[in-house]
Amino acid sequence: MTGVQRRTFLWGAVAAGAGALLPATALPGAALAEASPGGAITSRSVGAFDVVALRDSTDTFPATRTEMFPDATDADWRRARRADPGAFGPGLAWKLDFRCYAVRRPGGRIALVDAGVGPAGSPGSTWAAPGVLPDLLAAAHLDVADVDLVVLTHVHEDHMGWSVSTDGVPTFPNARYVVQRTEVARLAENSPMRDYLIVPLQRTGQLHEISGEVRLAGARGSRLTAIPTPGHTVGHQSVLVDGHGRRMMITGDVLVHAVQLVNPDVRYALEADQAVAAETRRTLLADARRRRTTLATAHLTSPFTDPYRP
Ligand SMILES: [Zn+2]
Repeated sequence: MTGVQRRTFLWGAVAAGAGALLPATALPGAALAEASPGGAITSRSVGAFDVVALRDSTDTFPATRTEMFPDATDADWRRARRADPGAFGPGLAWKLDFRCYAVRRPGGRIALVDAGVGPAGSPGSTWAAPGVLPDLLAAAHLDVADVDLVVLTHVHEDHMGWSVSTDGVPTFPNARYVVQRTEVARLAENSPMRDYLIVPLQRTGQLHEISGEVRLAGARGSRLTAIPTPGHTVGHQSVLVDGHGRRMMITGDVLVHAVQLVNPDVRYALEADQAVAAETRRTLLADARRRRTTLATAHLTSPFTDPYRP
């Protein structure tokens, strides 16, 4: 499906209610899970880093799950329902979260991986409920000024929404915005996403294009590494967090539904290259099982998945 068809397909969808807002007195660290109604904020530590899952939005997808994953079998769906029961709405409805991850490093610097649906008026808000990321960052005591890295797994509407304001001002004034060069290159000169995201970041000198696997940050034996995971889009990347024997992969849209977790061969209708996407998924899942890597996903209805656990 081309970008134009994708946009046309998604436009006109109905947006439902936004995710639950937080009380003003939320606590840092593990206590956040209890302070955040419905699990809008959850955290896990990986080596010297604290990874905070932030659910920007939650909604029902504007097409049925069988339209989006046409080759999934009944057995695949049964296994997926066991893996992620929250993804199953009435009938064939696909319920999904829209999540970002903040990685808090020693010393207080923060890397944000993906930037959600964004506010009302953002491109993503035309088909998904507007997000609440600024409230979540405040509740988690994560200061926008401390974000020095924003890593975008790919340039789709629901992953970059809070990167810039609707009038084109970068939300994170001290951040480099890291995107794969091939991902920027695929956007046509006059594409709406280039105008909305890329042009404002180029204007302020904050766009940082990378090629291939790149180490982004490190502290006390823990590392943050961008790793190409193509298929969903040509320049899709994931972020590996590792240190002190723990590994976590922030996977963007390598898998968008638990049906692709239980069977990586299941294709998603909106993948740019379905064969490459399936190969990326098989490799990533096999590696995660072998090396005991937690997956931090954007759209499953719980933030952390341990595929190595039976
Ligand atoms: Zn997505």
